[in-house]
Amino acid sequence: MKSRMMSLISLNFNNLNADSKLTRMSQRRKFIKQSLMGSALFIPGVSTIAEAKAPSLFKGEKPLILSTWNHGLPANAAAVEKLKTGGSIIDAVETGVKDTELDLSNLSVGLQGLPDREGITTLDASIMSGDGSCGAVAFVRQVKHPISLARVVMEKTPHVMIVGEGARQLAISEGFPIEKEELSPKAKEAYEKWKITSQYKPIINIENHDTIGMIGMDAKGNMAGSCTTSGLSYKMHGRVGDSPIIGAGLFVDNEVGAATATGLGESIIRICGSFLIVELMRQGRTPQEACEEAVKRLIAKNSKNIKDIQAGFLAMNKDGEVGAYSVHPGFNFAQATLQKNGMIDSGSHFK
Ligand code: ASP
Repeated sequence: MKSRMMSLISLNFNNLNADSKLTRMSQRRKFIKQSLMGSALFIPGVSTIAEAKAPSLFKGEKPLILSTWNHGLPANAAAVEKLKTGGSIIDAVETGVKDTELDLSNLSVGLQGLPDREGITTLDASIMSGDGSCGAVAFVRQVKHPISLARVVMEKTPHVMIVGEGARQLAISEGFPIEKEELSPKAKEAYEKWKITSQYKPIINIENHDTIGMIGMDAKGNMAGSCTTSGLSYKMHGRVGDSPIIGAGLFVDNEVGAATATGLGESIIRICGSFLIVELMRQGRTPQEACEEAVKRLIAKNSKNIKDIQAGFLAMNKDGEVGAYSVHPGFNFAQATLQKNGMIDSGSHFK
């Protein structure tokens, strides 16, 4: 799935029937997961292995690439291909998620993503290397590859984050094509439907999609990560989630490990989710223990609306151990080495 985890929101506007939404989401996820597992067999150069419940398909192998949701499978394949052709780990995590940014079937990443409540699609992305270098863009319009723009921020500016019109201007000055501002046919259809009943409440990620967060380690143990999204569907104009916030949606430290997040950004920002996981691993927790602790913390700090909030974490440590955990069932991730690429279901706090 890339399940647009039915995130949603507390901003005083929530009145949806969470249980039925959860059920519908999980049915959609199953369907999309099955479709993707089928098609994944044809990813060139990467064999697909059976889905497993275990937190890891293969332990301690390097290079190692992990990505959130079903869209992680082709993204991992693109990242692995980059490594095989001599790319660095930062090249790999950028290339991998660029694949998702172009996926027209995806309504939660890239310019084809669902818009905000004004009908405008705005994108958020971050990238980080294990040496502490990082860059991010947020609230960007008309740029097809916000992840590459985040990399420009990291490598060519003295800053970490550039947003809105400033980010668009940076894209222009760096020669990025500026796309026509129009919704993709699928997004337009969904938006028109949403407007009828929504009363402009940025409540639900109805699509079975979600942000892609990717973390990876090369053969030498250097790590990097990337995270890119169109964010919460029908959000308020100007809203920014966790994905471009270093420490919330993504954090990487070569000395310890890496983590990324997906789900309702507000709930993840409140606990600095990805940073928290890396710090817990620094104190000796395994990636799985750290993800479970982060979910517990998130639940404690968002207890009022937890029934309506989905969030999931994905982590690796420098030994190549893997962890993943979510608030509600339904989160999954893709794990790849040079030879293998497969989907794994994460465990969840609520069963
Ligand atoms: N985390 C993203 C955000 O809140 C959205 C998502 O993962 O669905 O913007």
